[in-house]
Amino acid sequence: MSTDHTGTHGKNSRIALVSGGSRGIGAAVVRRLAQDGWDVGFCYRSDEEAARRVEKEAGELGVRVLAVRADVSHAAEAKAWVSRTEDELGPVTAVIANAGVTRDRPLVLMSDDDWHQVMDTNLDGVFHTCRAAVFPMLKRRSGCVVTLSSVAGVHGNPGQTNYSAAKAGIIGFTKALAKEVGAHGIRANVVAPGLIDTDMTEALSKKDRDRLLSAVAMRRFGTAEEVADLTAFLVSDRASYITGSILEVHGGIAL
Ligand code: NDP
Repeated sequence: MSTDHTGTHGKNSRIALVSGGSRGIGAAVVRRLAQDGWDVGFCYRSDEEAARRVEKEAGELGVRVLAVRADVSHAAEAKAWVSRTEDELGPVTAVIANAGVTRDRPLVLMSDDDWHQVMDTNLDGVFHTCRAAVFPMLKRRSGCVVTLSSVAGVHGNPGQTNYSAAKAGIIGFTKALAKEVGAHGIRANVVAPGLIDTDMTEALSKKDRDRLLSAVAMRRFGTAEEVADLTAFLVSDRASYITGSILEVHGGIAL
Protein backbone atom coordinates (compact mmCIF):
# COMPACT_ATOMS: atom_id res chain seq x y z
CA MET A 1 0.00 0.00 0.00
CA SER A 2 1.22 3.53 -0.69
CA THR A 3 2.13 5.93 2.08
CA ASP A 4 -0.77 7.09 4.22
CA HIS A 5 -0.83 10.85 3.78
CA THR A 6 -4.33 11.38 5.11
CA GLY A 7 -3.80 10.43 8.71
CA THR A 8 -5.25 7.54 10.61
CA HIS A 9 -7.51 4.77 9.34
CA GLY A 10 -11.03 5.85 8.50
CA LYS A 11 -10.40 9.62 8.52
CA ASN A 12 -11.34 10.00 4.87
CA SER A 13 -15.10 9.64 4.43
CA ARG A 14 -14.68 9.06 0.69
CA ILE A 15 -13.37 5.59 -0.01
CA ALA A 16 -13.85 4.03 -3.44
CA LEU A 17 -13.44 0.51 -4.80
CA VAL A 18 -12.55 0.02 -8.47
CA SER A 19 -12.45 -3.42 -10.06
CA GLY A 20 -9.84 -3.74 -12.82
CA GLY A 21 -7.93 -0.63 -11.77
CA SER A 22 -4.52 -1.60 -13.12
CA ARG A 23 -4.99 -0.56 -16.74
CA GLY A 24 -7.16 1.45 -19.14
CA ILE A 25 -10.38 3.05 -17.91
CA GLY A 26 -10.09 1.56 -14.40
CA ALA A 27 -6.59 3.01 -13.95
CA ALA A 28 -7.81 6.42 -15.13
CA VAL A 29 -10.70 6.22 -12.64
CA VAL A 30 -8.29 5.37 -9.80
CA ARG A 31 -6.09 8.37 -10.69
CA ARG A 32 -9.03 10.74 -11.14
CA LEU A 33 -10.65 9.77 -7.82
CA ALA A 34 -7.29 10.11 -6.07
CA GLN A 35 -6.98 13.63 -7.56
CA ASP A 36 -10.41 14.40 -6.11
CA GLY A 37 -9.23 13.30 -2.66
CA TRP A 38 -10.72 9.79 -2.50
CA ASP A 39 -8.86 6.92 -0.89
CA VAL A 40 -9.04 4.12 -3.43
CA GLY A 41 -8.87 0.34 -3.26
CA PHE A 42 -8.64 -1.45 -6.58
CA CYS A 43 -8.21 -4.99 -7.82
CA TYR A 44 -6.54 -6.53 -10.83
CA ARG A 45 -6.38 -10.07 -12.12
CA SER A 46 -2.85 -10.70 -13.37
CA ASP A 47 -0.73 -7.68 -14.27
CA GLU A 48 0.92 -6.96 -10.92
CA GLU A 49 3.53 -4.60 -12.38
CA ALA A 50 0.85 -2.35 -13.91
CA ALA A 51 -1.12 -2.47 -10.65
CA ARG A 52 1.86 -1.40 -8.52
CA ARG A 53 2.57 1.45 -10.96
CA VAL A 54 -1.00 2.80 -10.64
CA GLU A 55 -0.93 2.30 -6.86
CA LYS A 56 2.27 4.34 -6.61
CA GLU A 57 1.21 7.13 -9.01
CA ALA A 58 -2.20 7.60 -7.38
CA GLY A 59 -0.69 7.34 -3.89
CA GLU A 60 1.67 10.19 -4.73
CA LEU A 61 -1.42 12.42 -4.94
CA GLY A 62 -1.63 12.25 -1.14
CA VAL A 63 -4.37 9.68 -0.57
CA ARG A 64 -4.28 6.04 0.48
CA VAL A 65 -4.33 3.56 -2.39
CA LEU A 66 -4.51 -0.20 -2.00
CA ALA A 67 -4.06 -2.62 -4.92
CA VAL A 68 -5.13 -6.24 -4.33
CA ARG A 69 -4.98 -9.18 -6.72
CA ALA A 70 -8.51 -10.59 -7.04
CA ASP A 71 -10.34 -12.23 -9.92
CA VAL A 72 -13.89 -10.86 -9.74
CA SER A 73 -15.28 -13.81 -11.67
CA HIS A 74 -14.81 -15.77 -8.41
CA ALA A 75 -17.27 -14.71 -5.72
CA ALA A 76 -14.94 -15.58 -2.84
CA GLU A 77 -12.08 -13.51 -4.29
CA ALA A 78 -14.31 -10.48 -4.83
CA LYS A 79 -15.66 -10.79 -1.29
CA ALA A 80 -12.20 -11.13 0.24
CA TRP A 81 -10.98 -8.08 -1.73
CA VAL A 82 -13.88 -5.92 -0.50
CA SER A 83 -13.40 -7.08 3.12
CA ARG A 84 -9.66 -6.46 3.04
CA THR A 85 -10.17 -2.97 1.60
CA GLU A 86 -12.72 -2.11 4.30
CA ASP A 87 -10.36 -3.46 6.98
CA GLU A 88 -7.38 -1.47 5.70
CA LEU A 89 -8.95 1.73 4.35
CA GLY A 90 -12.34 1.94 6.10
CA PRO A 91 -16.01 1.89 4.98
CA VAL A 92 -16.40 1.92 1.21
CA THR A 93 -18.68 4.71 -0.02
CA ALA A 94 -18.48 4.13 -3.79
CA VAL A 95 -17.95 1.05 -5.92
CA ILE A 96 -17.02 1.15 -9.60
CA ALA A 97 -17.52 -2.26 -11.22
CA ASN A 98 -15.24 -1.82 -14.21
CA ALA A 99 -13.34 -5.07 -14.85
CA GLY A 100 -14.11 -6.47 -18.27
CA VAL A 101 -12.74 -8.62 -21.08
CA THR A 102 -13.57 -9.30 -24.73
CA ARG A 103 -13.44 -12.56 -26.72
CA ASP A 104 -14.83 -11.35 -30.06
CA ARG A 105 -15.99 -13.86 -32.67
CA PRO A 106 -19.02 -14.33 -34.93
CA LEU A 107 -21.70 -16.34 -33.13
CA VAL A 108 -21.30 -19.47 -35.24
CA LEU A 109 -17.58 -19.63 -34.41
CA MET A 110 -17.95 -18.74 -30.75
CA SER A 111 -16.75 -21.41 -28.35
CA ASP A 112 -18.26 -22.15 -24.96
CA ASP A 113 -15.08 -20.71 -23.45
CA ASP A 114 -15.43 -17.43 -25.38
CA TRP A 115 -18.97 -17.13 -24.07
CA HIS A 116 -18.29 -18.09 -20.47
CA GLN A 117 -15.09 -16.08 -20.01
CA VAL A 118 -16.92 -12.93 -21.03
CA MET A 119 -20.01 -13.65 -18.94
CA ASP A 120 -17.94 -14.73 -15.93
CA THR A 121 -15.90 -11.53 -15.71
CA ASN A 122 -18.23 -8.95 -17.23
CA LEU A 123 -21.56 -9.98 -15.70
CA ASP A 124 -20.88 -12.38 -12.81
CA GLY A 125 -17.95 -10.12 -11.83
CA VAL A 126 -20.27 -7.13 -11.50
CA PHE A 127 -22.69 -9.20 -9.42
CA HIS A 128 -19.93 -10.48 -7.11
CA THR A 129 -18.33 -7.04 -6.68
CA CYS A 130 -21.57 -5.15 -6.08
CA ARG A 131 -23.06 -7.76 -3.75
CA ALA A 132 -19.98 -7.64 -1.54
CA ALA A 133 -19.75 -3.82 -1.55
CA VAL A 134 -23.47 -2.96 -1.26
CA PHE A 135 -24.09 -5.15 1.80
CA PRO A 136 -22.16 -2.86 4.19
CA MET A 137 -23.54 0.23 2.39
CA LEU A 138 -27.07 -0.93 3.20
CA LYS A 139 -26.20 -1.07 6.88
CA ARG A 140 -24.79 2.47 6.68
CA ARG A 141 -27.68 3.66 4.49
CA SER A 142 -25.44 5.47 2.03
CA GLY A 143 -23.29 4.67 -0.96
CA CYS A 144 -22.93 4.81 -4.68
CA VAL A 145 -22.51 2.21 -7.44
CA VAL A 146 -21.26 2.76 -10.98
CA THR A 147 -21.17 -0.14 -13.44
CA LEU A 148 -19.29 -0.11 -16.74
CA SER A 149 -21.46 -1.28 -19.60
CA SER A 150 -20.85 -0.33 -23.25
CA VAL A 151 -22.62 0.99 -26.31
CA ALA A 152 -22.50 -2.67 -27.37
CA GLY A 153 -24.86 -3.42 -24.46
CA VAL A 154 -27.25 -0.65 -25.52
CA HIS A 155 -27.22 -1.14 -29.31
CA GLY A 156 -25.51 -4.53 -29.95
CA ASN A 157 -22.30 -4.91 -31.95
CA PRO A 158 -21.56 -7.60 -34.56
CA GLY A 159 -18.91 -10.11 -33.51
CA GLN A 160 -19.73 -9.41 -29.87
CA THR A 161 -22.87 -11.39 -29.02
CA ASN A 162 -21.20 -12.55 -25.79
CA TYR A 163 -19.96 -9.08 -24.82
CA SER A 164 -23.20 -7.33 -25.89
CA ALA A 165 -25.26 -9.81 -23.84
CA ALA A 166 -23.11 -9.30 -20.74
CA LYS A 167 -23.14 -5.51 -21.12
CA ALA A 168 -26.93 -5.46 -21.66
CA GLY A 169 -27.20 -7.64 -18.53
CA ILE A 170 -25.26 -5.03 -16.58
CA ILE A 171 -27.84 -2.41 -17.57
CA GLY A 172 -30.74 -4.52 -16.29
CA PHE A 173 -28.80 -5.38 -13.15
CA THR A 174 -28.03 -1.73 -12.37
CA LYS A 175 -31.53 -0.44 -13.05
CA ALA A 176 -32.98 -3.13 -10.77
CA LEU A 177 -30.40 -2.38 -8.10
CA ALA A 178 -31.16 1.36 -8.23
CA LYS A 179 -34.82 0.59 -7.50
CA GLU A 180 -33.94 -1.88 -4.78
CA VAL A 181 -31.58 0.36 -2.80
CA GLY A 182 -32.70 3.91 -3.58
CA ALA A 183 -34.79 4.17 -0.43
CA HIS A 184 -31.71 3.09 1.55
CA GLY A 185 -29.69 6.11 0.39
CA ILE A 186 -27.72 4.26 -2.29
CA ARG A 187 -27.49 5.37 -5.95
CA ALA A 188 -26.61 3.10 -8.89
CA ASN A 189 -25.85 4.21 -12.44
CA VAL A 190 -24.41 2.81 -15.65
CA VAL A 191 -21.61 4.33 -17.70
CA ALA A 192 -21.76 3.12 -21.30
CA PRO A 193 -18.63 4.11 -23.23
CA GLY A 194 -18.14 3.90 -26.97
CA LEU A 195 -14.70 3.42 -28.50
CA ILE A 196 -12.07 4.25 -25.91
CA ASP A 197 -8.34 4.11 -26.51
CA THR A 198 -7.12 1.30 -24.21
CA ASP A 199 -5.44 -2.13 -24.54
CA MET A 200 -8.94 -3.55 -25.19
CA THR A 201 -9.45 -1.56 -28.41
CA GLU A 202 -5.75 -1.82 -29.33
CA ALA A 203 -6.55 -5.48 -29.99
CA LEU A 204 -9.02 -4.59 -32.80
CA SER A 205 -7.94 -5.19 -36.40
CA LYS A 206 -7.30 -2.09 -38.54
CA LYS A 207 -10.37 -3.00 -40.60
CA ASP A 208 -12.61 -3.10 -37.51
CA ARG A 209 -11.10 0.11 -36.10
CA ASP A 210 -11.76 1.95 -39.38
CA ARG A 211 -15.30 0.56 -39.66
CA LEU A 212 -16.13 1.57 -36.11
CA LEU A 213 -14.46 4.99 -36.34
CA SER A 214 -16.49 5.88 -39.41
CA ALA A 215 -19.60 5.54 -37.21
CA VAL A 216 -18.29 8.05 -34.64
CA ALA A 217 -19.46 11.63 -35.22
CA MET A 218 -16.29 13.04 -33.65
CA ARG A 219 -14.10 10.70 -35.77
CA ARG A 220 -11.81 9.78 -32.91
CA PHE A 221 -11.54 7.35 -30.03
CA GLY A 222 -12.31 8.66 -26.56
CA THR A 223 -9.72 8.65 -23.81
CA ALA A 224 -9.87 6.69 -20.58
CA GLU A 225 -9.70 10.05 -18.79
CA GLU A 226 -12.91 11.21 -20.50
CA VAL A 227 -14.71 8.16 -19.09
CA ALA A 228 -13.06 8.69 -15.69
CA ASP A 229 -14.35 12.29 -15.57
CA LEU A 230 -17.95 11.12 -15.99
CA THR A 231 -17.46 8.37 -13.41
CA ALA A 232 -15.97 10.82 -10.90
CA PHE A 233 -18.96 13.10 -11.42
CA LEU A 234 -21.41 10.24 -10.84
CA VAL A 235 -19.88 9.27 -7.50
CA SER A 236 -19.70 12.90 -6.35
CA ASP A 237 -22.36 14.84 -4.44
CA ARG A 238 -22.97 16.83 -7.64
CA ALA A 239 -24.83 13.76 -8.94
CA SER A 240 -26.93 13.37 -5.79
CA TYR A 241 -30.28 13.04 -7.66
CA ILE A 242 -29.03 10.78 -10.46
CA THR A 243 -29.84 7.10 -10.12
CA GLY A 244 -30.99 4.28 -12.39
CA SER A 245 -29.56 6.16 -15.38
CA ILE A 246 -27.40 5.09 -18.32
CA LEU A 247 -24.86 7.75 -19.20
CA GLU A 248 -23.28 7.24 -22.60
CA VAL A 249 -19.85 8.64 -23.45
CA HIS A 250 -19.15 7.88 -27.10
CA GLY A 251 -18.42 10.97 -29.22
CA GLY A 252 -21.70 10.51 -31.11
CA ILE A 253 -21.46 6.87 -32.19
CA ALA A 254 -24.20 5.38 -34.37
CA LEU A 255 -23.86 1.59 -34.26
P1 NDP B 1 -8.50 -3.06 -20.36
O1 NDP B 1 -8.39 -4.35 -21.05
O2 NDP B 1 -7.62 -1.94 -20.77
O3 NDP B 1 -8.32 -3.26 -18.77
C1 NDP B 1 -9.10 -4.23 -18.12
C2 NDP B 1 -8.84 -4.18 -16.62
O4 NDP B 1 -9.69 -5.15 -15.99
C3 NDP B 1 -7.42 -4.55 -16.25
O5 NDP B 1 -7.05 -3.81 -15.11
C4 NDP B 1 -7.52 -6.04 -15.91
O6 NDP B 1 -6.53 -6.49 -14.99
C5 NDP B 1 -8.89 -6.07 -15.24
N1 NDP B 1 -9.55 -7.38 -15.27
C6 NDP B 1 -9.88 -8.12 -16.35
N2 NDP B 1 -10.49 -9.25 -15.97
C7 NDP B 1 -10.52 -9.23 -14.61
C8 NDP B 1 -11.02 -10.12 -13.62
N3 NDP B 1 -11.61 -11.28 -13.94
N4 NDP B 1 -10.88 -9.78 -12.32
C9 NDP B 1 -10.28 -8.60 -11.97
N5 NDP B 1 -9.81 -7.73 -12.86
C10 NDP B 1 -9.92 -8.04 -14.16
O7 NDP B 1 -10.04 -2.63 -20.50
P2 NDP B 1 -10.70 -1.18 -20.64
O8 NDP B 1 -10.09 -0.26 -19.68
O9 NDP B 1 -10.76 -0.82 -22.06
O10 NDP B 1 -12.22 -1.50 -20.19
C11 NDP B 1 -12.69 -1.25 -18.88
C12 NDP B 1 -14.20 -1.49 -18.86
O11 NDP B 1 -14.83 -0.61 -19.78
C13 NDP B 1 -14.58 -2.91 -19.29
O12 NDP B 1 -15.69 -3.33 -18.55
C14 NDP B 1 -14.95 -2.73 -20.74
O13 NDP B 1 -15.82 -3.73 -21.18
C15 NDP B 1 -15.61 -1.36 -20.70
N6 NDP B 1 -15.62 -0.70 -21.99
C16 NDP B 1 -14.46 -0.43 -22.68
C17 NDP B 1 -14.51 0.18 -23.91
C18 NDP B 1 -13.30 0.51 -24.71
O14 NDP B 1 -13.46 0.94 -25.87
N7 NDP B 1 -12.08 0.34 -24.19
C19 NDP B 1 -15.81 0.55 -24.52
C20 NDP B 1 -16.94 0.22 -23.70
C21 NDP B 1 -16.85 -0.37 -22.50
P3 NDP B 1 -5.27 -7.38 -15.50
O15 NDP B 1 -4.48 -6.53 -16.42
O16 NDP B 1 -4.51 -7.72 -14.26
O17 NDP B 1 -5.87 -8.57 -16.20
